[in-house]
Amino acid sequence: TTSFTLQYEKPECLQFPLETQPRLLASGGPTNPYNRSFDSLRLPMLGMLEDPTIKILFDIQDGIRYVLQTKNEYTLVYHGTGVMGMSGVLDNLIEPGDKVLVGVIGFWSDVGARNAERFGANVIRMEKPIGSRFSLREIEAGIKQHRPKILYLVNGESSTGVYQPLEGIGNLCHKYDCITIIDVVATVGQQPLKMDEDKIDVVFMNSQKGLGGIVGLSPVSYSPRAMSKVRRRRSLPRILQTDINAQAEAWFITKPIESKHEVYVHSLSVTLLYSLREGLARVAEEGIENVWNRHADTHRYVHFRATKIGLEPFVANPEDRLEGISIFVTPPGKDAFKIEKYMLEKFRIEISPGLVTTLGKVIRIGLIGNNANRETAARLMDALEIALNSTETNS
Ligand code: PMP
Repeated sequence: TTSFTLQYEKPECLQFPLETQPRLLASGGPTNPYNRSFDSLRLPMLGMLEDPTIKILFDIQDGIRYVLQTKNEYTLVYHGTGVMGMSGVLDNLIEPGDKVLVGVIGFWSDVGARNAERFGANVIRMEKPIGSRFSLREIEAGIKQHRPKILYLVNGESSTGVYQPLEGIGNLCHKYDCITIIDVVATVGQQPLKMDEDKIDVVFMNSQKGLGGIVGLSPVSYSPRAMSKVRRRRSLPRILQTDINAQAEAWFITKPIESKHEVYVHSLSVTLLYSLREGLARVAEEGIENVWNRHADTHRYVHFRATKIGLEPFVANPEDRLEGISIFVTPPGKDAFKIEKYMLEKFRIEISPGLVTTLGKVIRIGLIGNNANRETAARLMDALEIALNSTETNS
């Protein structure tokens, strides 16, 4: 053995094993994964180009198509979180100077607008006050006035708890010849999505909310119409890792399995893919329509309990409310940050005091995926009632 003289000693903090305590993650995501998904992380690791691994890629493609209700061939997964999916779809669809009309109703739609600018788009913002959403008529007026190449909307604006319906949007975009990009991060696996029926062109999501998996993957789906815009590009997308044509080869959509040694884009996180596959399998086992109903039922129950303790919903119109994330106005005299701290310390329940524009003004409760059931909702609302009655949470 060689004896080395180290310049720096090993960090003391790494001499102890990691320990954590269980939590109910109810802030709006990441949520506690489905058990099947979490348990799969301990399965033996396969090599990334083995046949059983490639089968997982196909299982995931089928699962994503099922939860989106689409037959889109170009359905695959980017490595990275939902924001990576957002950047990837924007990069593939935007050519410098393209007009992109963004419906801004909160933090995430604003991120979409700023991100589109980074890819050289001429971004036009349509804005609505926090807590509301666009009518189909308002969207049509915007498209008619600006004639964008791309319309960008957020289906579930998780920062304000607002649901932006998609019915009719696809037809409008066909009529005015534009491509729809929809952020379905906060709706997939929670609220009804019918990508083909609603003629939506591109969607992106993440692995850790309604799909009940672990943070780190971002599924996307591109319609044939979207792919024909990609094919007409005069320049390559800027990010190699999310280039849809490169990835369609690596996910064996446009290349046969026999060519597996020729299609390397980047390493696959085989374990994260297990967990996404198992999250999707768990959703399929229950049936996506039953999963949607379970989220709707939990949402109604949360609001029923909230009414009883005098909490006022942040989104005035019940039809505009997201179902996975319920937001309530912080009651007068109460401090949302103290409530957050109390819930975590006393009950090991993580809730959220809002995000950016709503920060401190609201109490945000996400009951998503594994946590979307009455039993968990009752546990949370019992704890919240105690928290609200505690003098420790006064402002
Ligand atoms: N869009 C919406 C509506 C979201 O709620 C989130 C995550 N909270 C994102 C995008 C970004 O996803 P990620 O955190 O996985 O990057």
